[in-house]
Amino acid sequence: MDAAVAFLGELRRRLPALRLLTDEIDRESYRRDETAHFEPGLPLAVALPARVDEVAEIMRLATEYRVPVVPRGAGTGLSGGSAGVEGALTVALTRMNRILEIDRANLVAVVQPGVINADLKAAVAKEGLFYPPDPASYEACSIGGNIGTNAGGLCCVKYGVTRDAVLSLEVVLADGHVIRTGGRNVKDAAGYSLTQLFVGSQGTLGIVTEATLRLRPTPPPKRTLLAFFPTVEAAGRAVAAMTAAGLEPCTLELMDSVTIAAVDEWHGLGLDRSAAALLLIESDRPGAAAEQELAAAESACEAAGATSVVGATNAMEADWLRQVRRLAFRAMERLGVARMEDIGAPRSRLPELLGAIERIAAAHEVRCGTFGHAGDGNLHPTFVWDRGDHEAEERAQAACEELYRAAIALGGTVTGEHGIGATRRAFLEEQRGAEAVGVMRSIKAALDPLGLLNPGRVV
Ligand SMILES: Cc1cc2nc3c(=O)[nH]c(=O)nc-3n(C[C@H](O)[C@H](O)[C@H](O)COP(=O)(O)OP(=O)(O)OC[C@H]3O[C@@H](n4cnc5c(N)ncnc54)[C@H](O)[C@@H]3O)c2cc1C
Repeated sequence: MDAAVAFLGELRRRLPALRLLTDEIDRESYRRDETAHFEPGLPLAVALPARVDEVAEIMRLATEYRVPVVPRGAGTGLSGGSAGVEGALTVALTRMNRILEIDRANLVAVVQPGVINADLKAAVAKEGLFYPPDPASYEACSIGGNIGTNAGGLCCVKYGVTRDAVLSLEVVLADGHVIRTGGRNVKDAAGYSLTQLFVGSQGTLGIVTEATLRLRPTPPPKRTLLAFFPTVEAAGRAVAAMTAAGLEPCTLELMDSVTIAAVDEWHGLGLDRSAAALLLIESDRPGAAAEQELAAAESACEAAGATSVVGATNAMEADWLRQVRRLAFRAMERLGVARMEDIGAPRSRLPELLGAIERIAAAHEVRCGTFGHAGDGNLHPTFVWDRGDHEAEERAQAACEELYRAAIALGGTVTGEHGIGATRRAFLEEQRGAEAVGVMRSIKAALDPLGLLNPGRVV
C-alpha cells in the first residue's frame, strides 16, 4: 500500500476524533499563505488537532511513516512558511484557540497557539493589561504564527518583538515528545535558552502547543503626529535623528508617496499626495512627557526638511491614522500582484536604505511602494505587477535580490520580521555566513534528524 495512504489510515485509526481534511478542495484552501508570488505544493491532508496529545500522536506517526509536516497558524505569513509542501501533512493549530489563564499576579497570559493576536490584546485589556506585539495583521494572525516568525509590528520600536514577550513554551518535537521551556520567571538562567531558539524557527524545530506570554500594564493613551517630507531620504534622516537623540516613541512608521496614494485612492482620506513620504509618530508617555517627546520629534522632522507636521486632534483621528498605515499592504494589493519585502538596516543607515530602494526599483523598472517600521530600521518595499506579467515578475525578483545585497552591505538584514521561510533561503548564508548557518543546520539535525518539520524552509 502507498505509504501516504497507510499513514492517513493509521492516523484515522489512532485518532478517530481528529479533524482531518483529505478532499482536494479542502487541501487546496491550505495550499497558500499570503505570499502571493510563491508557488507552493498541495498538502497531502490537513489535520486540525484540538489537543496537545493529538499533535504528539501526529508527530509520532509522521516519524514512523516518514511523512513531512507543515505547522500552520492563520496562514497570513509573507515568506511561504506555512504554505503547502507537496505530499506533506499540514497541521493547522487554529482550533487550539483558548486563552488558558491571565495571571495578574505575575503579569503573564498562558495561551494556546491558535489564539488571534487581537483577541488576546482585547482579553488582557479588560484586566488593565497590555500584550505589546502588534503586527499590522493583528486582527487575523495567530500567536503560534507570531511565535513561528518572531513577529514584529508597529510598537516594537519601544516594546520589542514577539521574542521579547515569550517566557515559556510547550513544544511537540519531531518525534512526538513534548517539552516545556522556560516558566513564569522574569529572570531564569538555567541552561540554554530553548524558548528563544524556538521563537522565529518557523515550525522547523517543533510545534508550539502552548505559550506563556509576558504582559505589561496598559500604557497611557497615545498622542499622535503626522509629518510630511519632500523626499524619502529626508524622512529617513528624521528617523535617524530621533534615534540618535534617544527618543522612544511607541510608533515610528513610514509610508512613501506610492503607498500614500494607494491608501488615499481606496479610502479618500485627503492625505497630502504631493509629499514624497510621511512619518506616523506616536508617544504613550504619561502626561506632559508625551508632549515633550512629540515636540522633540517635531523638531527632528523640521530639521530634516519636513514640509508640514500635524497632530491628531482626538483619539478617533489618531486611530484612523494608525489604521491608514495598517491598510498599506492591502491598498498595494489592489494594484496587482503585491510582493512585500522586509529588509532592515541599522537605524543610522535608514536614509541609505531608502535611497537604495528607490535606485534599485528605478533601475529594474518595477513599481514599488515602501512603507514600514522605520523606527526599527525595518522597511517593506512592496513590488507590484499585473497578474500574468511574467517579465515584470522577473524584474521584481532581480530587484529583490539586489535589495537583499544592498541591505546586507549596510550591515542590515534580508528579513526583519517575516522570516527566511521558503522565499529567502538563498540569502541566509550570504547574510549570516557559512559557519553560522552550519551551526543552525546542526541544531536542526539534533532536533529533527529525519528533516520532517517544514522541509525546505529556513535552513
Ligand atoms: C496585511 C498584512 C500585514 C502584516 N503585517 C505584519 C507586521 O506588521 N509584522 C509582522 O511581523 N508580520 C506581518 N505580517 C505577516 C504575518 O501576519 C506574520 O508573519 C504572522 O506572525 C503570521 O502569523 P500566522 O498565524 O498567520 O502564521 P502562519 O502564516 O500560518 O505561519 C507562520 C510561520 O509560523 C509557523 N507556525 C505557525 N504556527 C506554529 C506553531 N504552532 N508552532 C510552530 N510553528 C508555527 C509556520 O510553519 C510558518 O513558518 C503581515 C501580513 C499581512 C497579510
